[in-house]
Amino acid sequence: MTATEQTHDGSAVRIDRDYPELRDSVRKLCAAFPGKYWRDLDVKGDYPDAFVNAMASGGYLAALIPEQYGGSGLPFRAAQVILQTVHEEGCNAGACIAQMYTMGTVLKHGNESQKEHYLPKIATGELRLQSFGVTEPGAGTDTLRLKTRAVRDGNRYVINGQKIWISRTGHTDLMLLLARTTPVEEMKHKKHGLSVFLVDVKQGLRDKTIEIRPIDIMTNHLTYEVFFNDAIVPAENRIGEEGEGFTYILSSMNAERTLACGAILGNGNWFIRKAVDYANQRVVFGRPISANQGIQFPIADTYAQLDAADLMARRAAMLLDAGKPCGYEANAAKHLAAEAAWKAADVCMQTYGGFGVAREFDVERVWRESRHFRVAPISTNLILAFIGQNVLGMPRSY
Ligand SMILES: Cc1cc2nc3c(=O)[nH]c(=O)nc-3n(C[C@H](O)[C@H](O)[C@H](O)COP(=O)(O)OP(=O)(O)OC[C@H]3O[C@@H](n4cnc5c(N)ncnc54)[C@H](O)[C@@H]3O)c2cc1C
Repeated sequence: MTATEQTHDGSAVRIDRDYPELRDSVRKLCAAFPGKYWRDLDVKGDYPDAFVNAMASGGYLAALIPEQYGGSGLPFRAAQVILQTVHEEGCNAGACIAQMYTMGTVLKHGNESQKEHYLPKIATGELRLQSFGVTEPGAGTDTLRLKTRAVRDGNRYVINGQKIWISRTGHTDLMLLLARTTPVEEMKHKKHGLSVFLVDVKQGLRDKTIEIRPIDIMTNHLTYEVFFNDAIVPAENRIGEEGEGFTYILSSMNAERTLACGAILGNGNWFIRKAVDYANQRVVFGRPISANQGIQFPIADTYAQLDAADLMARRAAMLLDAGKPCGYEANAAKHLAAEAAWKAADVCMQTYGGFGVAREFDVERVWRESRHFRVAPISTNLILAFIGQNVLGMPRSY
């Protein structure tokens, strides 16, 4: 059996591939969005509207929404494959990924009328639910310290506070917001007291109770500071029980990490393909640079590491699909994938020599995009702390 197959542009990628038809159709979609499309967006800092619309109208963003609500009801593994293929083709699903998983909180913890109202519109892309509001300036990784307050006032909540790093807020209709409904001093257990809301961002921006400020960062990720100044959310927009929001968000974080693995590994595989193709055709000292072990071995080593991370990502997806706990697997997969993809980024950059920093080859852009994944959606240290403490039973460091 050969180890590779051809992509639309004729270069090689690994086989051992499930969902071949799905991969094929995503590849065809991506062929319309070549490197130049992403380079131009990167320079201008624009949102990839045409790509997001193509993904939505192709039904890919509704992969995880059950058929009864207008989605295709595919397993997590299929969603991972969609994201992986997008990134293997040099595209960037950063603007789409939240639309795929954020609705999971509504699906799992929402009531029937919320599901019937929102899910079909999210499935068609008519409603964008692309913003997930957790992180705050004073409560980064330490989510339980978050301060944004939601105070009940009759049949509505009044929201005040600040979030940071909330991606795509300028391009979404709805935000899934985690806010404090019980002041810290009144809490009986630290995991209670937070609640989840669906916030109408466009309405808040119109009536100026929500203000957003873009953060200037090294990639085109469109992330924002968000300020809530007496923003009104109808009580019927609370998802699930008041005070149980942290538990709901935790379960969707495992889904987020597992899905993110698709995108991260896709980047890694893209780097391997670029590195192999370039090393095979670049001749220095009268032979392809790939003939040198100093070039060949790091690529081969990283290829194997990506493959190992891929196995863990499949395991996490399998457990999610079976409705089983997957805290360890989702975290470990995200960690292994992010480290392997970052190594692949560096190896590819090195293989390209000086051309690695030239924008036209896209290596420097995807290199920058890949670095994020060691910090977000969760940083490496916090994953290692989770494994050390929750899996291996060592003392907490915080
Ligand atoms: C591009 C981008 C997009 C993002 N999008 C979103 C979004 O859409 N929604 C959202 O809610 N958030 C988002 N985030 C936030 C992201 O989840 C956080 O940045 C991340 O969880 C880390 O939090 P922090 O930046 O506050 O780091 P901090 O919590 O300040 O930590 C700083 C560093 O210290 C380490 N550290 C902290 N505590 C410990 C400890 N006890 N032991 C060892 N090391 C420790 C951390 O691992 C990290 O490396 C985004 C971030 C980025 C960069």
